Amino acid sequence: MDAQFDRRTLLGGTMFAVLASTGRALAQDQLAEAGSDCRRCRGLGLVPRSNAKAYVFVEGQADFDPAAAAVGQKCPLCMKGDDKAVIDEAALVDAAKRQHADVLAQHAQWEERLGEELLLVQTRHAAIHTQLKAADAKRVGDAVEQTTMRLQRVAESLAITPTRPAGYSQVILWGEPAWAKFRAAMEQLFTPEQLGGEWQNAGKGMLYDHPAVAHCYLTQKTVREVAAEYFAVKLAATRQIWVATGTRAPAWLVDGLAAYAQQAVLGSARVFTIYAQGRGPTRPVTLDQTARQAAAGQFRPWEKLLTRDLRDFETADYAQSLAMVAFLLEDQPAKFVSFVERLKSGTATPAALEEAYGATAGELETAGGKWLARR
Ligand SMILES: [Zn+2]
Repeated sequence: MDAQFDRRTLLGGTMFAVLASTGRALAQDQLAEAGSDCRRCRGLGLVPRSNAKAYVFVEGQADFDPAAAAVGQKCPLCMKGDDKAVIDEAALVDAAKRQHADVLAQHAQWEERLGEELLLVQTRHAAIHTQLKAADAKRVGDAVEQTTMRLQRVAESLAITPTRPAGYSQVILWGEPAWAKFRAAMEQLFTPEQLGGEWQNAGKGMLYDHPAVAHCYLTQKTVREVAAEYFAVKLAATRQIWVATGTRAPAWLVDGLAAYAQQAVLGSARVFTIYAQGRGPTRPVTLDQTARQAAAGQFRPWEKLLTRDLRDFETADYAQSLAMVAFLLEDQPAKFVSFVERLKSGTATPAALEEAYGATAGELETAGGKWLARR
């Protein structure tokens, strides 16, 4: 990744302030509250489908299949019996139909605002409106779908994949003129406050993670250096953890989860942040590498990273964030979900971690090192 790419890529902590200010107003399509403390479904009433296959709708290729697009299935623990028919299969399929209808309407609106055709790609958890060619757009959609499926499979829960396509969209443009046009449309739609304090700076970049519609533009040069999927997966994963924690996720958790998703779905993580300038990893990062770094003592004590601001991140911090999230999520997934819930309820990061895992940061650091070494 060269210096120009780095400079022009605006992603990371500065965007979180935007999300924090407007994220809650743009709530996701809420599942019916099961109103329970069920440990299996975390009160959602739904769990991941046991035999889920990836589902990606690409406009013009096949009819939308609401049964295939439905999210989750009735929780086997707390949603037994016919009296809980509020979350039956037909209702889930109906919800998928309504989501798609909303997505189609939004898609038509974006085409009208921009005065050009866009391609619609829809996954179970995101809508992507794009100028990419169909084959490229399909790959991006597949990667985003795999991201949420992976998180659900590992967590055995829908709790860390809260977005739905009608409430979460990405606009992926091609070339800077389209970006300028899109930004002008955004300025018509939103007040300066809703656009966020970083809106003006974002104009010099190529990506803006706005809560209503995350957007970026790519060029030949960009995609030669980093495939489009890396951007889409980073944005999608970031949004999941951001919404799941009620915008309270610390930097290492956000960047770590995004890197975790990239490495799980695409084989490696790419770090791009406005703060990285010469400090972030310039090459793809893998979990294997982080294991060697941890063994070589290149990581800082966990308790130092738990509350570290993204603007203070140094190269190894990105890799360490990936390693921490991979360990915390894969080794004890139920505790990871519990940690996320505690963050959402407002508990500070170190306390939330200690309460959820029943271990101090130091103890988790030791266990994490061992886990990394033997995986
Ligand atoms: Zn349940």
